Amino acid sequence: MPEFPTTRSEALARLAAFAPRMGRAYAARRNADLGPGRHEAVSRLSPAIRHRLLTEAEVVGTALAAHGPEAAGKFVEEVFWRSYWKGWLELRPSVWAAYRAGLARQVQALATRGGLRKAHAAACRGETGIACFDAWARELAATGYLHNHARMWFASIWIFTLRLPWELGADLFLRQLRDGDPASNTLSWRWVGGLQTPGKHYLARAENIARWTEGRFDPRGELEEQAAPLPPEPLPAPGRLPPREEPPPGPAALLLHEEDLGVESLDVGPARIVAAGGFVLPEARSPLLVSPAVARHLAAALSDGLARAEARFGAPAGQVLPDAVPDWAKEAGVRTVLTPEAPAGWTAEALARIEAALAERGLRLVRLRRAWDEACWPLATRGFFAFRGHIPELARRLAA
Ligand SMILES: Cc1cc2nc3c(=O)[nH]c(=O)nc-3n(C[C@H](O)[C@H](O)[C@H](O)COP(=O)(O)OP(=O)(O)OC[C@H]3O[C@@H](n4cnc5c(N)ncnc54)[C@H](O)[C@@H]3O)c2cc1C
Repeated sequence: MPEFPTTRSEALARLAAFAPRMGRAYAARRNADLGPGRHEAVSRLSPAIRHRLLTEAEVVGTALAAHGPEAAGKFVEEVFWRSYWKGWLELRPSVWAAYRAGLARQVQALATRGGLRKAHAAACRGETGIACFDAWARELAATGYLHNHARMWFASIWIFTLRLPWELGADLFLRQLRDGDPASNTLSWRWVGGLQTPGKHYLARAENIARWTEGRFDPRGELEEQAAPLPPEPLPAPGRLPPREEPPPGPAALLLHEEDLGVESLDVGPARIVAAGGFVLPEARSPLLVSPAVARHLAAALSDGLARAEARFGAPAGQVLPDAVPDWAKEAGVRTVLTPEAPAGWTAEALARIEAALAERGLRLVRLRRAWDEACWPLATRGFFAFRGHIPELARRLAA
């Protein structure tokens, strides 16, 4: 079984293999980062869940069935972090726009400030001289994955010890992670820096790193453990979700993308799918070079999604570039293109452009919102601890 599945059948196999460890063993051991090839205490399912080769409902359902709500509680809660972050950003999309604008300024600064350029390159290559940080930078580049605790330590050292702009660190993750996600990534970096919960930041401590890496690293004296949080920024008030759209009856084309390749459980209502297409845009996640391994991962996941769409709907399926969607829809003889709803990020931006191009030709783009997202996203109005109270009921109601 590959460590990071790119097909649904591989992802289902990993889900089944990890199910026995989703209970108390997960709660006890999930913080330990034992290094590449030794991440058995955590699921490594995020690249599959991120692109919905597996849905959150399936993963939570598997955990509850294997262990019951109490023993599976910690694992289930972690899965809901993804939904919480997505909802939080969906209600405040200006935070995504502000990240993109801040990143553009920092990329500009790389071109003009030699010191920053050198320090950034050393951090990205894992050549800072801080052994743990350098090892994580190399693991990220080599595997496209980091343990959650390593992501927290890495981001904290990047911001508070190396004093590099957080946007460039978030960008490095998006360029190299197989599960690179606009909401989980941007908001986790903001949380580490102290922007997400104003005044509260996450400081990596040498003692904590030594303990949870089981002695692989001991960065005593190397880390800035007293730094103040980043200067606070006002948080926008949460907006409202646009109403859920209903697929109309009749022939329609289905447009897939990396935000949701869960073809089997997609509810297309009374629509009859006569063609399926899909696109991925690895290069849209950063103005800098995106790892070819990320592009390969996405291409493989998309081609698996298209094959499953062809099997489910009995309709021809193939890749279609965003600019070619209106012609593709016309050729398929449809007036409606259905697409899974994409939360704030580069895919949503591409869908907005596609929607405008379709409208010019008198065609309609209809976004399909899952019951999971419809239930979770509006609840992300405050901090996670307010959201957490809803998890047992959400899990009971929505788990597959
Ligand atoms: C600075 C930083 C950046 C991050 N960037 C991303 C990102 O780009 N994409 C991404 O998917 N996750 C991101 N995370 C969240 C988390 O680190 C990963 O989802 C997790 O490490 C995935 O590994 P796993 O599947 O083995 O997790 P497990 O421990 O097995 O967790 C099970 C599932 O729960 C979800 N989950 C667990 N922890 C979190 C979390 N903190 N936030 C959101 N979902 C979580 C994931 O879907 C994961 O597959 C980031 C965290 C930090 C601190």
